[in-house]
Amino acid sequence: MHLPANDPALRSWIPVATDSDFPIQNLPFGMGSWNGEPPVPVTRIGDRVVDLSVLAEAGLLDGLGIAREAFMAPQLNDLMAGGRTAVRALRQRLSELLRHDNPSFRDNNTLREDALLPADQVTLHLPVRIGDYTDFYSSRQHAYNVGCMFRDPNNALLPNWLHLPVGYHGRASSIVVSGTPIHRPKGQYKPAPDAAPEFGPTRQLDMELEVAFITFEGNTLGQHITTAEAEEKIFGLVLFNDWSARDIQAWEYVPLGPFLGKNFGSSMSPWVVTLDALEPFRTASPVQDPPVLPYLQHSGDRHIDIALEAGIATPDGRETTICRSNFKHLYWSMAQQLAHHTVNGCNVRCGDVMASGTISGDTPDSYGSLLELTWKGTKPLTLHDGTERKFLQDGDTLVMRGHCVKDGVRIGFGEVTGKVLPAI
Ligand code: CA
Repeated sequence: MHLPANDPALRSWIPVATDSDFPIQNLPFGMGSWNGEPPVPVTRIGDRVVDLSVLAEAGLLDGLGIAREAFMAPQLNDLMAGGRTAVRALRQRLSELLRHDNPSFRDNNTLREDALLPADQVTLHLPVRIGDYTDFYSSRQHAYNVGCMFRDPNNALLPNWLHLPVGYHGRASSIVVSGTPIHRPKGQYKPAPDAAPEFGPTRQLDMELEVAFITFEGNTLGQHITTAEAEEKIFGLVLFNDWSARDIQAWEYVPLGPFLGKNFGSSMSPWVVTLDALEPFRTASPVQDPPVLPYLQHSGDRHIDIALEAGIATPDGRETTICRSNFKHLYWSMAQQLAHHTVNGCNVRCGDVMASGTISGDTPDSYGSLLELTWKGTKPLTLHDGTERKFLQDGDTLVMRGHCVKDGVRIGFGEVTGKVLPAI
């Protein structure tokens, strides 16, 4: 019997705990290595990682429009070359191979020994060879909060904000996979508004709670992607921590926007959760007033209900949750972001990363940055050990998680973590 890969009734022959982010309905993609071997494309189910190169070599992934060599490649880009149709077929094939009543993989001892690994023995790498990185600014509450702090509460949103998804071009070279430590960056900042600029380690190191999407090959230069076409160009989503140095940012950003306050590092979760896996968790997009221009209009539920949280773990390993937000709080959808990005003919390539911008909800405990949570440092947070934080300290580990739940199915992203090391 054919069951779609999202069916809540699906079960696997691999045991999956009820609170796992990785049931058979998820099947995200990543790059994993073990025993010093080169990384290969992998998926995850429960606490097991599945080596796709072994399944491909056994001929189990033939006929999907994806070359066997793509399953031996050092990044997922080759596997993504067939676009959403091929990746959808691959996820469906994996779902069938992992179903409880399919013996082809389940009862093949050699295959099981070669292809299944305990997740804690696998090193995960950046899933894709990232081309370009764009960061949007699509949470209305975040833009409003920042506007209140740095300008005027009566005029917090700049005039363009409700008319277009504001964004900037970031730096792909410094995007790192979860677990990679981040050195406190150094730069110029002003210790007081009227003071002369100084140079040194940032005194206002912050997180930004974001979700990023990764694209398939999008459009050729000069062409554009419509809102109706946009989701076919999206491979999947990851959690994204866009580390920010607020004092460096505040001094440098006029008039061209973020630069060294942002480009010293951004952390990405290792598992790419496909847009297909997230389909059951769609939710209504917000009413946009004033109405947007025709090229930004779309219909249907273009948002996704993904619960997000961030916490600070101290060197003793204990963690304090500092914020709970949701991907659905964005004002601009991914489809609108991609349509806007390409409307002038800018081409999007396989492996580009587009981040949402900090995602803040409308309650103070749902703000997605320390800047907002502590209101520019005026309301410090208290951690489990009684210490206070206005911004991040050396030795802190920032942890972000995200998951969806519906009809008894929980699909998650795992974690993105990064430890703050002293400035070099
Ligand atoms: Ca950002």
